[in-house]
This record gives sequence, structure tokens and C-alpha cells, in this order.
Amino acid sequence: MAVAKRRVVSVLGSTGSIGTSTLDVIARHPDRFEVYALAAHSSVDAMLAQCLAFSPRYAVMMDEAAATLLQKRLPADAVTEVLQGESGLEDVVTAPQVDVVMAAIVGAAGLPSTLAAASAGKTLLLANKESLVMGGHLLMQAVRESGACLLPIDSEHNAIFQCMPVDGRATPSGKGVSKVLLTASGGPFRQWSHAQMIAATPDQACAHPNWSMGRKISVDSASLMNKGLELIEACWIFDLAPASVDVVVHPQSIIHSLVQYLDGSVLAQLGNPDMRTAIAYGLGWPERLESGVPPLDLVATARLDFEAPDEYRFPCLRLARESFAAGGTAMAVCNAANEVAVAAFLDNGIRFTDIPVVIERTLEQVDNVEPTSLSVVENADAQARQVAAGFLVDFRQTGGRVKQV
Ligand code: NAD
Ligand code: MG
Repeated sequence: MAVAKRRVVSVLGSTGSIGTSTLDVIARHPDRFEVYALAAHSSVDAMLAQCLAFSPRYAVMMDEAAATLLQKRLPADAVTEVLQGESGLEDVVTAPQVDVVMAAIVGAAGLPSTLAAASAGKTLLLANKESLVMGGHLLMQAVRESGACLLPIDSEHNAIFQCMPVDGRATPSGKGVSKVLLTASGGPFRQWSHAQMIAATPDQACAHPNWSMGRKISVDSASLMNKGLELIEACWIFDLAPASVDVVVHPQSIIHSLVQYLDGSVLAQLGNPDMRTAIAYGLGWPERLESGVPPLDLVATARLDFEAPDEYRFPCLRLARESFAAGGTAMAVCNAANEVAVAAFLDNGIRFTDIPVVIERTLEQVDNVEPTSLSVVENADAQARQVAAGFLVDFRQTGGRVKQV
């Protein structure tokens, strides 16, 4: 019997939470996958250890000093060549020998490389939801034109993908789908009052009850901006109107999302909250791979609870919804303002409850235009960052209160 060719993978954001889980799954299947490239921002120690373990052809560091240091620290006989910056990223996603790109850079920084992978017709494992939120139209168009295979890695979208009719993922309403039910854990502040959230610290916001994730997405989960971004992500990936997606808070994070059909059937995907399930699904699709995730013990789980989200205590969900309805570059602006505000919160610069205020003020100030190209989207992103940064100055000067404009 002929031995199947190993699939060649580039992992972007390899030192992060999704990146390390991806390498954990890959390491379980050396007969199936070969790592072509790893890419990260600046964590040299982690990247060096990954290079020694996986012997990629390339290691890309965004940061120039980190690239130089990595080069110095790699053994002289290492097979890995170090590349630097955005052009290095583009090279390792578009190389003809690459089959699969795991897009797991955090934030807007992932947009150019995610778009390049889509345009190059790769199998795109999409974790970097911000790129779809910012440039959904461009990214989906690139996927269609190149014939790329987009497989969602975000656990909810991966669950929806699994529950959709096999022949109807791109046109679900024509295949009997009536609604998508997007589950949300509710985050660590699910039962906190607004007054308690005013005093929330970065470590409290990052202490997610079920998932272990990077700090930015952890804060987004605490504010429910993550669910807002995911609502938009679902609309783009499955060609849905926002009215066809309901958010349901499910604190145990066992049901990862559901698809409701016209006949009253509701299909759900369940599992332990461990991203390796979705990652293994993406890597193996259409086959199933062992992921290292322990089997679900329903008796030990005992309860599955559900409640409606509270958009009054969590205004970020409303802001994301309104930005998507506004269309154009509003979502890119919303995303950029959120990234600036979350970074400031993590740096102890503003309060947790200031995050939606920065976003709302920024949306009011930045013009909404048609997102006709990557540079238009990048311009909106840059403008929003500048405006949002201006508000941060006001917050700091006024002890956490934005001045009236
Ligand atoms: P993380 O902070 O743990 O890791 C981010 C990775 O991106 C790191 O390897 C970092 O070096 C790299 N990076 C950061 N800036 C970069 C830049 N400018 N250029 C190149 N690389 C850069 O983040 P994470 O939690 O792994 O999340 C990654 C993405 O996956 C995010 O978009 C997040 O929303 C999404 N996601 C994460 C999870 C999760 O469980 N962690 C679940 C669903 C979706
Ligand atoms: Mg998710």
C-alpha cells in the first residue's frame, strides 16, 4: 500500500496558546504532518525550543532583535533558517510546498498573513478571528476566488461547522437550517455587578473559568467582546444574517454551539473545553484524529445550564453587533479600538469598564467607508488606534474618566 504524503504545515503564532496546542496535536501524528515554518512575535526561548523539537525549514520572528538573537542561539548545524517581519510571514504561507496554514496570530496583526494564505488557496485553519472581523468581505472573497479550504478553529465555529449539513455550509438556509445558537461561557464576570467590574484587575479578567487562553482573548471573553467578534465571524463563515444567530450563555462550556433546523431538530457539538479537539478536527478534516483531549464524562459534568446574555452589563456585545450592522469599516474600527483598550487595561492603564467607552467614542469619531482593499481596512485600523489612544490619555489624566467631547 502506498504511504500517504505528509501534509506540510506552517503555524503562525506558534508560541501562543493555540500555537502550542497545534504543535501538541501535530507531535502526536509525525506520520501525517511535517512542520514547514513556525512564526511568532518575539518570544525567543519558546521559539528556540520549538525549532529544536520540530526542525522547521523556517522560523519567522516579527521583531528584528528577536530574529537576530534566535539566529545566534540556534545550533550551527540547525536545519532552520530565520526570517524576519511581514515578508517572512508571507513567504512561509504562500510557499508552494505548504498545504496547511494555522492562522493563530492574535489581533489585527494577523490580517495580512491570513489573507495571503487564503489568496494562495491553502487549507486555512482560522483561529485569528480578528482578521475575519476586520476584513470579512476581502477574506471570504479571497477564499472563493482561490478555492482555499477555510476550516474554523474557534471552538464555536468549529462546532457549527460540524453540525451544519455537509452540503450546505455555504448556504445553510437553503438546507433547512433556521438558526445558529452560539454558546458563551459568560466569562469570569458573569455574575459580577457593574460596580464590581469597575474594580476588576487584569488577573481577575484573565482567570477564565473553563478555558486556558492568551491574555487578549481572555479579556475579550470577560467583556463579551469575544462573543461579539464571534457573532460576526459566524455570519461571514456561514453566510448568515445576524438575526439568524442567537447568543446563549452556557457556563459549563461543554456544548460548543448548536444548529437549529426547520423541523425542530437541534444538533449540538459537545466536548471538554480544550482547543485541541477543534485543532485536530481542522488538521485531520475530513478524517478524525486523536487529539489528546480526555473523553467527556457526562455524569461528572452533571449539569448543563443556559441563560440569556446581559447586554447592559456587557455593552461590548452590543457594540460589536451595531458595528456589524453599520457595515463598511466600522468593524475594523471597533476591533482596533478594542485592541487598544484591552492592551491599556492589561497594562493597568484604564479600568475594565472603560473598555466599551473607548470603543464607543472611537466608533463615533472615525469615518465609516467601504472596505474595498486591504489598505483601506488597514487605514481604518490605524486611524481607530490613533483616536482610541487619544481617549486613553484622557482616561489617565482624569483618573479613569473620559472627558466629554
Ligand atoms: P496568544 O497571545 O497566546 O498567542 C499569540 C501568538 O501570536 C504568539 O505566538 C505571539 O508571538 C504571536 N504574535 C503576536 N503578535 C504578532 C505579530 N505582530 N506578528 C506575528 N506573530 C505575533 O493568543 P492565543 O490565545 O493563542 O490566540 C491566538 C488567536 O486565536 C487569537 O486571534 C484568538 O482570538 C484566537 N483564538 C484563541 C483561542 C484560545 O483558546 N486561545 C480560542 C479561539 C480563538
Ligand atoms: Mg471561541
